[in-house]
Amino acid sequence: MNGVCVLGSTGSIGVSTLEVIRLNRQSYSVVALTANKNIERLFEQCIEFKPVYAVVPEHDLAETFRKKIEQSDASETKVLSGIEALEYVVQLAEVDTVVAAIVGAAGLLSTLAAAKSGKKLLLANKESLVISGDLLMTAVKESGATLLPLDSEHNALFQCMPDAYQSGQRAEGIRKLILTASGGPFLKMSLSELDNVTVEQACAHPNWSMGRKISVDSATMMNKGLEVIEASYLFDVPSSLIEVLVHPQSIIHSMVDYLDGSVLAQLGNPDMRTPIAHALAWPKRQDSGVSPLDLIINHQLTFEAPSFEKFPCLKLAYEALNKKGTAPAILNAANEVAVDAFLSKKLRFTAISTLIEKVMAASTVRSADSIETVLKADEETRVLARHYLEAS
Ligand code: NAD
Ligand code: MG
Repeated sequence: MNGVCVLGSTGSIGVSTLEVIRLNRQSYSVVALTANKNIERLFEQCIEFKPVYAVVPEHDLAETFRKKIEQSDASETKVLSGIEALEYVVQLAEVDTVVAAIVGAAGLLSTLAAAKSGKKLLLANKESLVISGDLLMTAVKESGATLLPLDSEHNALFQCMPDAYQSGQRAEGIRKLILTASGGPFLKMSLSELDNVTVEQACAHPNWSMGRKISVDSATMMNKGLEVIEASYLFDVPSSLIEVLVHPQSIIHSMVDYLDGSVLAQLGNPDMRTPIAHALAWPKRQDSGVSPLDLIINHQLTFEAPSFEKFPCLKLAYEALNKKGTAPAILNAANEVAVDAFLSKKLRFTAISTLIEKVMAASTVRSADSIETVLKADEETRVLARHYLEAS
């Protein structure tokens, strides 16, 4: 039995993870589940999976939840509160695998704790790698943790990497990594039409069903920008070797282009249960519940170059990656503030990139050599971004 801790079990990735576990119940025991606000969903998950621990960071909410659990069928589940509890549960001896599926910088410290404790770390929380890429990768190497990407593109790249890479050595013979992008819901809109798009439109992704923050990131293509940074740290390749290719059908999840002219791709229906099932079972394979890919129905696979003019966030992400240090953390924090403001209807869609650009131009990039430096950059950027937001 593989002991699993799901950080962010009530979100889109968390729910998909538990669906895969439900299908393969004999292989997994759920040790810990965590949620931020949605205690109703967490309660249902506890009743079904009977975890040893459930974490609700906020104390009052945790107290309400604890009372409910104590009188339920899941009364054996211990309810913990406080953000430290997230770091505590990932390190438990009975946890073999940590699924890092909290959204945003809020997932940073628990993801890092999982990396340091040498667990099998299934990474959905791309923001933690963007914010602290070198620190996280070093922690993985030093502890002997196994890092497996859940992001569909990176999971695809992982599957297409040479065998040597998969067994821990440096990947050789690669010409470039090709990250595919759906282009989001606004691919066909003109720049001027983008000015007036609504939150509902931005959150209605054509191919993937996801949380609200990543849906907006997909609409601005910041998601792809964050993924370029994620790929650079994960696979240790410079930005010049990472290309973004718009592929609106999301059937090819990414490709590795080798020096000998071979291009390896991973294909499948766009459903996160595939990378989740792959990473949970790796190096074996297991059922994910995803229907088989039908290439007769999906017979048209098209490709185009991304537009940096329409999607300036993508350009900003490449710039942050080239600067390195705390630049990606600054980009991420500014983006989180801007997306939050857009979701609460305080900022227009096209003003998201303008705000990030302004914040980046006014920020000093430092060397990202400690977690304290990175957290400080994150905090200072949020203050600056909120200041610009209020002044606008
Ligand atoms: P979501 O909004 O659906 O879920 C987020 C989860 O994080 C919830 O369980 C929530 O309770 C928890 N959470 C939020 N704020 C928290 C806080 N302050 N402290 C503790 N927990 C908190 O998000 P999602 O779509 O599942 O995305 C999760 C992560 O996976 C993101 O980093 C996203 O970029 C990445 N990802 C998602 C998808 C997808 O298809 N949804 C694909 C690739 C990568
Ligand atoms: Mg992705």
